Amino acid sequence: MEQTDILISGAGIAGLVAAAGLAQRGFRVCIVDPAPPVDDVAQAGSDLRSTAYLRPAQALLARLGLWDALKPEAQPLAALQVIDTHGTPPVERARRMFSPSDVESELFGWNLPNWRCRAILATHLASLPGVDLRLGVGFVSMLTRDAGARVVLSDGTSIAARLVIGADGRASSVRQAAGIGVRVRRYGQKALSFAAAHDLPHEDVSSEIYNSGGAFTTVPLADHQGEPASAIVWMQDGPRALDLAGMARDDGARFDAEMSARAVHLLGDMRRITPVQVWPVVTQTADRMIARRVALIAEAAHVLPPIGAQGLNTSLQDVAALLDRLEDDPGAPAGLERYSADRLRDVAARASAIDLFNRVCQSDLAAVQALRLAGLRAVHDMAPLRKQVMQAGMGRDVPGVLPDAPRS
Ligand SMILES: Cc1cc2nc3c(=O)[nH]c(=O)nc-3n(C[C@H](O)[C@H](O)[C@H](O)COP(=O)(O)OP(=O)(O)OC[C@H]3O[C@@H](n4cnc5c(N)ncnc54)[C@H](O)[C@@H]3O)c2cc1C
Repeated sequence: MEQTDILISGAGIAGLVAAAGLAQRGFRVCIVDPAPPVDDVAQAGSDLRSTAYLRPAQALLARLGLWDALKPEAQPLAALQVIDTHGTPPVERARRMFSPSDVESELFGWNLPNWRCRAILATHLASLPGVDLRLGVGFVSMLTRDAGARVVLSDGTSIAARLVIGADGRASSVRQAAGIGVRVRRYGQKALSFAAAHDLPHEDVSSEIYNSGGAFTTVPLADHQGEPASAIVWMQDGPRALDLAGMARDDGARFDAEMSARAVHLLGDMRRITPVQVWPVVTQTADRMIARRVALIAEAAHVLPPIGAQGLNTSLQDVAALLDRLEDDPGAPAGLERYSADRLRDVAARASAIDLFNRVCQSDLAAVQALRLAGLRAVHDMAPLRKQVMQAGMGRDVPGVLPDAPRS
């Protein structure tokens, strides 16, 4: 039987970053995923979301020697603008700009399309010593004992590992095999994700534009064929979201007009430049983040509504905690307990805050909409509160557990 120190199920962005970090800590890592990354945005299976990597996440990527490969494709995020609107078509009620200088930084972070990020990371990992990247092969089952785990893969291979990490997304097979349940809160809401070109430059500013139904978020991308471009996340009540997705398919011009109006023409006329993907919006938290010889990270452990760039940024905090907490025997109970203690509270706090925020933003009750407007003004206009909220949203800086990445 094959042997490894750590078997990671799922080579999404979180799994790939974890593999790089754990190999850098000296572990032998085998990472498997049935779905290879795509090398073109239009290919089937392309993840059309983008991720705004906030400063702590970027620091982790730099520490692991991954940032140099990603940086050329990353668009800086120089400021965050929040706009409160009401009615249909939306009319602006208030606008506030948040600056990274409040958290003693020049930038909030950098934005990168997920499909591209995953492809770059997979290419980098394929040549990394200590990492055995197996694409086209998935986790099927496992048997765990106190001393280790035996994993069976979809190609029939059996591998003995001292730790199994579930990084296999919201329907995690590792989580199910470990008998860990989930708590799910639904909102009857969906998020459309795609990219759009627009007439006006984004000036590296990301905008969250609120109206009943949820947030409409623009996040700066690099220019597309000479035009300014942004990643869009458009949250709406489910039936309206499905209508919009159908409109994008059948009547592109009408969709573009609806989108430009929903964005209060902030970026001028907007034109969709990729297909639309539809994501269910849920808050889902695993009952536990560990089991015998098992750790869960990222969406296998927590799924958050796509507001405030919390999802993958929270996942990279999991990776930083794993690197910091695991013992030399990576599946030893004491290290796993420390990892769990470190992450459970932060994940629960973020899930509660985003859940409440999303409910307030989604509601069409006049009183709740007034509360949203008052909340925006209070958070922005009171400097200490503004700084506290922004710091909490950014997350912790990564602990210095790793040696600096070797320079190439
Ligand atoms: C519309 C939208 C916008 C978002 N924007 C942001 C943002 O700006 N910032 C942010 O921080 N977060 C954002 N998020 C959240 C972020 O995109 C997700 O948290 C992140 O992509 C999930 O990464 P993951 O690695 O956990 O899961 P996934 O990307 O789902 O990866 C899981 C991997 O596991 C693999 N897998 C599945 N089953 C198996 C198996 N049996 N064996 C092996 N592998 C398996 C899959 O093929 C997949 O590659 C957004 C989410 C949405 C819905």
